[in-house]
Amino acid sequence: MMKYLINQMRLENKKNKRRDKIRAAKLKQKQNKSANQLAQEFKQTKVRGIHTASDAFLMTYEWRKVRMEALKKYGARCQCCGATPAHGAVMNVDHIKPRKLYPHLALDLNNLQVLCHDCNHGKGNWDMTDWRERNESPIQLDLRDVSIKVF
Ligand SMILES: [Zn+2]
Repeated sequence: MMKYLINQMRLENKKNKRRDKIRAAKLKQKQNKSANQLAQEFKQTKVRGIHTASDAFLMTYEWRKVRMEALKKYGARCQCCGATPAHGAVMNVDHIKPRKLYPHLALDLNNLQVLCHDCNHGKGNWDMTDWRERNESPIQLDLRDVSIKVF
């Protein structure tokens, strides 16, 4: 009986050790991945030697191209207030996560939204509101309009 218990404990111990080993390997993999990711992100902060947080970046072909892609994807309509060039609004393509704080996301189409000049101007580097999701569902907007009228 005693021998059986000792054997059982040994087996349990072996199992735990193996589990710890797998956990350690997984953690190491994760750390390596984030190091790789950091290196990748650092690479993405420059376009042909121009830092993506600089003003010169806005003159690059790479930015103009992704800017056009955003306008094609979302249309020339402010995703915050709905203004269009027909209303006399000037369209800006805005970085949701600002270039100064997230330079590696400067050319990421998923980080872009279309805002009119007025809405974009009121937005500072502190504001990272993603207006795309908020105004995605017109039904939600209608409901909000209704509740404004009722109360
Ligand atoms: Zn607007």
